[in-house]
Amino acid sequence: VNQFSQPVRQLANLANTIQVTIASCERIFEVLDEDPMKETESGLEPRENTNYKIEFENVEFGYGQDDLLMTDFNLTVKEGQMIAVVGPTGAGKSTLINLLERFYDVKGGSIRYEGVDTRDIKKDKLRNKFSMVLQDTWLFNGTIWENLRYGSHEENPSDQEILEAAEAAHVDDFVRRLPEGYDTMLNEEGTNISQGQRQLITIARAFLADPEVLILDEATSSVDTRTEILIQRAMGRLLENRTSFVVAHRLSTIRDADKIIVMNHGDVIETGNHEELIEQDGFYADLYNAQFQSTDEQL
Ligand code: ADP
Repeated sequence: VNQFSQPVRQLANLANTIQVTIASCERIFEVLDEDPMKETESGLEPRENTNYKIEFENVEFGYGQDDLLMTDFNLTVKEGQMIAVVGPTGAGKSTLINLLERFYDVKGGSIRYEGVDTRDIKKDKLRNKFSMVLQDTWLFNGTIWENLRYGSHEENPSDQEILEAAEAAHVDDFVRRLPEGYDTMLNEEGTNISQGQRQLITIARAFLADPEVLILDEATSSVDTRTEILIQRAMGRLLENRTSFVVAHRLSTIRDADKIIVMNHGDVIETGNHEELIEQDGFYADLYNAQFQSTDEQL
C-alpha cells in the first residue's frame, strides 16, 4: 500500500463511518481534532503579500529520532501551478505530501500556506484545502450515489452538484448504462466495477470537493484504452487553473508541469520544467532518455 494513502484512507474511512452512521458525531470528531495549544506553535509572523501559494523553506524532516530524510528542502509554488514530483521509490515523494497536510510536522524550517505557517492553521481547515486523487481508490459499501455524496470533503453537496461532478468525471457515462444506475451497490473492494471506473469515481469526488490544491497520485495500473482516455480528459479538467502536486508517472503529465522536482533520498536533486531539465542533462534527462527508448509510457 502506498505510504501516504494509508493515513489518508484511514482518516477518510473514519470520517465516512461517522458521516454515514450518525451525522452529529462529526462535531465530536471536530472537537477532538481541535487542539488549542497547536494554534500558535510556529512563532512565525505571517508573511504579508507573499507571491507564493505554498513555500517549503529549509525544511528538515525525519521519521525517526535521529535520522533526517530531508535536510534542507526548498520549494516555492505559485497559485495555479502544477508541480510534478518525480523520483524512485523511497525518494520522499509521499513524505512531501504528508508534510504538506501535516500528517507529520517538520523538524526544522517551515511550510507556509499563503504566507502562514501551516502549524498555525487548524488541521481540519488545512486539510480541507487539499483533495487527493489516489492511486488505490477507496470505496465503501453503499451505492454509487452515496460513494459520491459522502466520499468528498464537501459537506452536504446538492444533487445537482453531485450530478455535475459525475458528468465532469465521465462517471455519468458508465453509470447510466448500469441497470440500477446510481443506485448500484458497490462493495468495498469495488470488484463489481472496473479499476478505471473506480478511478473516475475518485475524480468525481475531487470535482465535488473543488479543492484549492489538488494532490494526485498518478495511477500506474493499466486500464483499457477507452477508460484511459476518459481518465486523462477528466484529470485535465480537474487540473485546469488549479494548484496541484502530481506524483507523476506519465510523461505527458510531467511535460505539462510548470515545475518538475526530481527527488532522491529525501532531497530535491533537480528542479525545472521539462526543457530545462533536459538541458541540464542530469538525472531527469537520463530517466527521460531511458524511457524514450522503451515503448513503456510510464516513468
Ligand atoms: P516515495 O513516496 O518517494 O516512495 P516515501 O516518502 O514513502 O518515498 O519514503 C521516503 C523514506 O521514508 C523511505 O526510506 C521510507 O522507508 C521512509 N518512510 C516513509 N514513511 C515512513 C513512516 N511512516 N515511518 C518510517 N519511515 C517512513
